[in-house]
Amino acid sequence: MSGSEVAVAVILGLLINECCDIAPWLARMLVKRSAHLRYNDRSRAETRAEELTAFINDRPGKLLKLATALAFIFISLVAYGVQAIRRWTSSAVDRLGTEDQAFASLQRWTIGHHGTTRSYRDPRFDRVIVCVTCKGNGRGDEDWPCRTCQGNGTLKFLEPPEAS
Ligand SMILES: [Zn+2]
Repeated sequence: MSGSEVAVAVILGLLINECCDIAPWLARMLVKRSAHLRYNDRSRAETRAEELTAFINDRPGKLLKLATALAFIFISLVAYGVQAIRRWTSSAVDRLGTEDQAFASLQRWTIGHHGTTRSYRDPRFDRVIVCVTCKGNGRGDEDWPCRTCQGNGTLKFLEPPEAS
């Protein structure tokens, strides 16, 4: 082994040792970042970052600390990506359905948001109930139309007068 090879081996050894000393610090930084990527609530993220930092500190070996932190940051990046895709698709659905939403708002319908789908409901349907006399079949005595609901099977609550 020549002198230059020994020097290279010593320098490489020092570099690897230096990198291993950086590994625990880098691992702690990565798990803190992963907690903030994962949780939108700042106090929840900081609590989780402290828990993950304690977990990293308990791991044996400097490289195992770094490998564990890399796993946490990978999982957080995947979760962050999934959240970003959900937010984007939800806002895209809102942009595509603006005409429907404007119509529904004009009609004073209730708009339900369910991920990428929307539901629209006319609240006047809440005032329709099943006729208590004929139990909704529309038939009264001797098969004549029910007198209470005129054979509709449903009744409507009175509408409040329109404010003029
Ligand atoms: Zn009836």
